[in-house]
Amino acid sequence: MSRVYNFSAGPSMLPESVLKKAASELTDYRGTGQSVMEMSHRSKAYKGIIENTEALVRELMAVPSNYKVLFLQGGASLQFAMVPMNLRKKGKAAYVDTGVWASKAAKEAKKWLEVDTIASSKDAGYSFIPEVKKVDGDYDYLHITLNNTIMGTKWEYLPETGSIPLVSDISSCVLSEPLDVSKFGLLYAGAQKNLAPAGVTLVIIREDLITDSPVENTPAMLRYDIHVENGSMYNTPPCYSIYMMGLVLEWIKENGGLPEVTRRNKEKAALLYDYLDASSCYHATAQKGSRSLMNVPFLTKETDPEKADAINKKFVAEAAEAGLVNLAGHRLVGGMRASIYNAMPVDGVKALIAFMDKFAAENLK
Ligand code: PMP
Repeated sequence: MSRVYNFSAGPSMLPESVLKKAASELTDYRGTGQSVMEMSHRSKAYKGIIENTEALVRELMAVPSNYKVLFLQGGASLQFAMVPMNLRKKGKAAYVDTGVWASKAAKEAKKWLEVDTIASSKDAGYSFIPEVKKVDGDYDYLHITLNNTIMGTKWEYLPETGSIPLVSDISSCVLSEPLDVSKFGLLYAGAQKNLAPAGVTLVIIREDLITDSPVENTPAMLRYDIHVENGSMYNTPPCYSIYMMGLVLEWIKENGGLPEVTRRNKEKAALLYDYLDASSCYHATAQKGSRSLMNVPFLTKETDPEKADAINKKFVAEAAEAGLVNLAGHRLVGGMRASIYNAMPVDGVKALIAFMDKFAAENLK
């Protein structure tokens, strides 16, 4: 069977050449006679792997030298708790509610500090990013979700926060386009979209935010200072996912680096949004000015809910038969969603548009 175009929101496509490279090294990593899966995380060979992955993160994201790079576990969801547990000082943080993940982050934070939801687009179905140009106040940090995977929106600007650290969940947009790390106090991303298979979470934290006195009784595994002191090896790290992240980052580097990734992502997103905007059969749900490059939710123009549901199911099933898989929208919002992360080739988006045209001619005219 040939490979499909996988539009899943995560875990999602990995570059085929990366999978082939991993396969070629699967049983014998570069003459060690062992798989990376079997190797001691304290071995010289593994030290080389984790150091290489960190160096590539630093290079490709232009991480300034006063930031630490960590490879943790527990997904982005655990960062929803670690951020407030470790960054709490005065006891109040600001959150912007731009969708399901943003509100989950705020809900978790409320267990540790007072949360001010300073803006929300909930009443508009989270179809845009609310305007938050400037934030001041007695906040330990401001939290934003830079790209909202489910609603397909992204921040096109960063709020000015002065001395308030800006914290962001970049799970679904990491390394999709340039990001000025120096504007942030802390960034985190689950790996299973643009970086690696699931299992590792990338955290980038400014050194002055690392404290040896997080909230009382914080478990060691949930303390940034302990992970920093131990070079992400306080316990056994997610070894294989970190290795795979290294291969994915090498693939980015070999293919023109972030500028070329950005160019391709913009090309893919423009193809799809232009098609949707011109269509009389489909429409994008995210508003212009807030549209994600990575996740593109869309609906048909069928307004009767029962008929729309049947049409959506047919669309997703027939697309899968055509080798375009995982196009169902998130279970909370329905409709369709095409996640077009870094590893999705331009041809995958073209194939999707060709399918949409055919499906519309047969079902939506
Ligand atoms: N934040 C965002 C923006 C996400 O898209 C997701 C997962 N889809 C999460 C957080 C949760 O990530 P994890 O499963 O790694 O905990």
